[in-house]
Amino acid sequence: MSDLFDLIVVGGGPGGYVAALRGSQLGMNVALVESAYMGGVCLNWGCIPTKALLRSADIFHSLSHLKEFGLSADNPSFDLEKVVARSRSVADRMRKGVTHLLKKAKVTTFEGRASLAGKVGEAHKVSVSKDGKEVASIRAPHVILATGARARQLPGLETDGKLIWGAREAMTPTSFPKRLLVIGSGAIGIEFASFYRDLGSEVTIAEVADRILIAEDPEISMQAQKAFEKRGIRILTSAKVGPLQKEADQVSTTIETPKGKTELTVDRVICAVGIVGNVEDLGLEKTRVKIDRTHIITDEFCRTDEPGLYAIGDVAGAPWLAHKASHEAVICVEKISGRSPEPLHTLSIPGCTYSRPQIASVGLSEEKAKAMGKTVKVGRFPFLANGKAVAMGEPDGMTKVVFDATTGELLGAHMIGAEVTEMIQGFVIARTGELTEAELSETVFPHPTISETMHEAVLSAFEGALHI
Ligand SMILES: Cc1cc2nc3c(=O)[nH]c(=O)nc-3n(C[C@H](O)[C@H](O)[C@H](O)COP(=O)(O)OP(=O)(O)OC[C@H]3O[C@@H](n4cnc5c(N)ncnc54)[C@H](O)[C@@H]3O)c2cc1C
Repeated sequence: MSDLFDLIVVGGGPGGYVAALRGSQLGMNVALVESAYMGGVCLNWGCIPTKALLRSADIFHSLSHLKEFGLSADNPSFDLEKVVARSRSVADRMRKGVTHLLKKAKVTTFEGRASLAGKVGEAHKVSVSKDGKEVASIRAPHVILATGARARQLPGLETDGKLIWGAREAMTPTSFPKRLLVIGSGAIGIEFASFYRDLGSEVTIAEVADRILIAEDPEISMQAQKAFEKRGIRILTSAKVGPLQKEADQVSTTIETPKGKTELTVDRVICAVGIVGNVEDLGLEKTRVKIDRTHIITDEFCRTDEPGLYAIGDVAGAPWLAHKASHEAVICVEKISGRSPEPLHTLSIPGCTYSRPQIASVGLSEEKAKAMGKTVKVGRFPFLANGKAVAMGEPDGMTKVVFDATTGELLGAHMIGAEVTEMIQGFVIARTGELTEAELSETVFPHPTISETMHEAVLSAFEGALHI
């Protein structure tokens, strides 16, 4: 086998493996180096296993509310080991699927850690090592870095795998935490809080900002907070978590908020306070690649300052989402192959939180749009007035849309409630197609669906909603 490839991809997550597949589709001879699990964080330790856990929690919640639907079942219960085993088997299945796709696409895969080892002519050399020993040395004119990111560790709040959990421990618990503190209220923290609460944990969320889900429209954050509090989750915002006092099987701490101090003792703490890019030990110091804090700086086609070196996905910065990584992969590889891809429009990347209720959004919040000096028209529609939502027993929720009052452009859409992570795509397509309120108003939505709240929210921004 020759050591020369057209393209080397470092990292086999949704950025890296998609880059390898697209490269192969476009006729390139591609090598992919992965040091741990094919499929990356997303398939193995992120998006997929957490959704499997949340599905168990959702079903358990429904079983506990059967009476409302005229049904009954005796004493619903759960077996944590089996819930986790199902989640792991779903992740396993997806990993095997990706491995199969790569094989089918004739991508040459290497197991080991890759680092850049200088240049041979126009080609970048990549050294692959395992257990400290070099197992391969390969070359290519184009190298895509897709090494992902890991959880941020804050001094005093470092995860220890036993009492202070990161996401991996939180998704593979060996015992059930009756009392849980979740530090951080981004999507990851909120999803774990939702999962454990549904199974019966006493959950407290501590968030340093003055509201949860800080990336979301403030109105949606407030609704989410109310919904979680209604479920019995305690939420402390503007919260400063004091030192964590670890005992044999519990942790105590004091949390300070503007309202006072809360003494708390819990069985486990989940720390979800952001992420840092995996930029270490890649041999970047010998290149012209620039790093901003822990992320590689790239242009709109994922090119770094070093010709032939590219970065995509989490290692290239926010938003830290699998679909952003995959989309950048396609753009990057198509550009390398001489095509003319459209750069990624950051404001058209949807973000979803798969808690109960779900939260989904795309584009600008009302607050941000106004801060940018735009005159906006805002529409809202509550799930309470939607037949399908009520029939499903899901009347809590809202769809909110933000339009540019002058041009009619859809600037942003924000949703909370059942199924919104599936529905947000309608608004993403509207943004990609640069649809205005006129086209959205003319669109026929199927009845009865919760998607009708999208239509009604648009109508309410202009002519007025029909069903409220
Ligand atoms: C708990 C949790 C839940 C999440 N849920 C969602 C969700 O619902 N939706 C969503 O969009 N995103 C979610 N994410 C984020 C998502 O997982 C990431 O955005 C996504 O995995 C980024 O893809 P990537 O390809 O950039 O990196 P990764 O998936 O991190 O893959 C990088 C790969 O590179 C490998 N690697 C690193 N260094 C080297 C090296 N030197 N040599 C060889 N290989 C190397 C790593 O082993 C890893 O497999 C979640 C994350 C977590 C932690």
